[in-house]
Formats: sequence, structure tokens, C-alpha cells
Amino acid sequence: MKDENFIFHLHLSSFDMKHITILTTGGTIAMTRVDAAGGAIPILSGADFLANVPRDLADVRVEEFGNLPSAHFTIDHIWNLSRRVAALVARDEVDGIVVTHGTDTLDESAYLCDITIDTRKPIVFTGAMRAASDPGYEGVANLIAAIQTAASDDARDCGALVVFNDEIHCARDVMKTHPTALETFLSPEWGPLGRAYADRVVIARKPTRREFIPATRLEPNVTLLKLAVGMSEGLLEYLVDTVGARGVVLETLGGGRVPPSWLSTIERAVKAGTAIVITSRVGAGRTIDRYGYAGAHRDLARIGCWFADGLSGQKARIKLMAALGTENARAYFDNSL
Ligand code: ASP
Repeated sequence: MKDENFIFHLHLSSFDMKHITILTTGGTIAMTRVDAAGGAIPILSGADFLANVPRDLADVRVEEFGNLPSAHFTIDHIWNLSRRVAALVARDEVDGIVVTHGTDTLDESAYLCDITIDTRKPIVFTGAMRAASDPGYEGVANLIAAIQTAASDDARDCGALVVFNDEIHCARDVMKTHPTALETFLSPEWGPLGRAYADRVVIARKPTRREFIPATRLEPNVTLLKLAVGMSEGLLEYLVDTVGARGVVLETLGGGRVPPSWLSTIERAVKAGTAIVITSRVGAGRTIDRYGYAGAHRDLARIGCWFADGLSGQKARIKLMAALGTENARAYFDNSL
């Protein structure tokens, strides 16, 4: 995309003002109720967003990347989004990026940008739980807090961030935890990094576990499976034998356990060249080796599974898709016994 695609620009022209680009993608933050559709749909434009941004906040440009509910995003779509963000942060005249995004898959896009863009500049994702036609629409407050964060020097070197309710979370840790609550974005294990106050942004803690994966594409043939008590391994067999999966992420039980009947299929998958990545279905925390019974963590390590080091299942899938888009996917996962 070229400069003509910057459709709106607030000319504030103060020397020390930060230059922030808002990239709009859709989601509830861009939605309003349309009677003919029977509900809210994404129709707000970049100009609508800009109309609500205080002029003294930053030198703000808006680029419309798309206007979709995030459930409509494809793998190509999120890869192209990450490439667009990468191109924008590479420009000298851009100090930070705000991406407005549907909340349903926001954590996945934010994490994808986190691991595939090598930059010191803030990349801040935000959205809204209420549409512009709902009472108490919080999209403007979230947008302003996100711009403040993107314009803050303290938010540099933090990778991709997610700002909701004035809280600043790192993309690696944050997850959507409730389908409707305003305080849905939480970092269950480690908490937020900081907060956007009215007068300034405070980053109390910086992420220490950032990593860069130099992916040239995303491998699309990667699936996430969640385990439950007594569940058969039939879906995994199907993925390996019929779909020819390049990778499967297993949200295993507790700290990395599977029913023993799964082991032979997992081993066969690994031998067939399918990367099997282990994470936990509980939503936070690493899987670790503590038990000596069949189907526990050490069995999974012994047969060649890789471990996601505390990532949620959906983020482990994003990471595996990116890692499989490099020459050496194995290098990006813990696979020690
Ligand atoms: N359905 C919306 C989406 O695009 C939900 C939201 O943005 O809150 O993900």
C-alpha cells in the first residue's frame, strides 16, 4: 500500500508530537446497529475514529486495512495485517501503531505481530466490547488509551501490546476471558504491564520473554485440539492420516497429560513429520514433568512432542504456524526431556 491509502490525517504539526498510525480492521469497535442486518455490523470509517481523537494527543493518521468481524479473518488476512504493520513501523516518520480489531481473535493477531515484527516501536491493539450504538460504548476511551500508549517512550521495547480499560497487557500473556464483560482482557498468570492514566502512561514491568521468529509465511495446515476426559484420539488420527496436518497443538489436561490411548497416535504423527505442540487447556501456566504414570508429560517429551512454555492453545498455534514458516521450526520450541 502507498501513501494515498492514508485517507485521513490530523495536521497538528507540533515538533515534539509523536506520529501515530491507526490501522483499522473492523470488530465491535467499528460496529453500530443496522436494523436491516438485525444487529451490529462493522461500518464505522477511519474518519469516524479520528473525529473522536483529541487533537493534542499525537499527530494521528488513519489507514483502513479492512472492516470485518474478527471471526471472518483468514490466515492470509492476519499474515497480511502483520506485514502491513511491519512495513509501517519500518518508516522513520512513524513512532507507533494502533490496530483496532475485533476482540474475538485479537489476542492471536497481536501475538502474531509480537513474534514476527522486529521493532522497538509500540504496536498497540485495542477494540471494544460494546458497539457504538450500545449504551456505554467504550471504543473511544480504549482508542485514546491505545494512542497514548503507542505515543509513550516507556512503551518502547515491549513488543505488541493490548490496551483495554486503561490496562496495558503484553501480547504473549493476554487473553479474552469473558464473552461480554468489559474487563475481559486479562493476563491470568502475570497480570498487566501498566496503565494509561489521563496524564501519562505508566509501564511498571517490561516483558522479559520476547522472541522474534523470522517467518516468511504462515503454515496454514495447523490445527488446535482440546482434550477432555475420555475423549478418543480419532480426530488426531484424521488430522494425521487424512488431512496430512503439518502441525497440531494439543490443549492437554492439566500440566501436560493425555489419556494413554493417545500416545501411539501422537508418536505415529511425530514420526510422520507432524509437529505436535503441547499446551494446557487450563488457560495459564507451563506444562511440567512431575508424574511417572502413562500419558504424563515425560511420555510426551520422550516421543518427540514440543512444548509451548505457557502459551494458550490459540497462541501456540500462531507460533507453530510462524515457526513452520522458517527453515527450522524445532528451534522455537522447548523439546527437552
Ligand atoms: N464480534 C466481534 C469481533 O469482531 C467481537 C468484538 O469485536 O468484540 O471479534
